[in-house]
Amino acid sequence: MIAIEPTWTPERVDQLKIYFEAGLSCRDIAVNIGVSRNAVIGKLSRLNLTRTTSDERRARRKKSASHAAQRATAKQQFRLLQEVYEQEPEDAPIVSANSCSLFELSEQRCRWPISTPGAEDFCFCGNTPLGGMPYCSGHYRLAYQAGSRQRAARG
Ligand SMILES: [Zn+2]
Repeated sequence: MIAIEPTWTPERVDQLKIYFEAGLSCRDIAVNIGVSRNAVIGKLSRLNLTRTTSDERRARRKKSASHAAQRATAKQQFRLLQEVYEQEPEDAPIVSANSCSLFELSEQRCRWPISTPGAEDFCFCGNTPLGGMPYCSGHYRLAYQAGSRQRAARG
């Protein structure tokens, strides 16, 4: 009687783990051990030995890259604001020559409300906003001042 040799002898399992940790592909491991590629894949999943695919690694790298981009943008905006405050006098008049309705608002228009919401002449500033910001330089300054005044009042 011929004993049927199991595919995964303890020796082969050890080899499998060693080759896997060495970073060999499933096909190479299969050739080295002398089993089928499918057997290697099946055994690896049974042993919970999964490798991060290059796709996952790429996705992770992309994520951190966009984080860095966000940080850079915040920094740029801060610098932009600094310039605005340094260059323009505090009480420079804000001319909203391009005032627009709510429906005309876009990324390229300052969304500072002129007059009271609900009023007949209610509209938005519509000036070209600062890069990446919802308001033009004048209204951003106004928003910032209002905010600091509120903070001062509270404190
Ligand atoms: Zn504005």
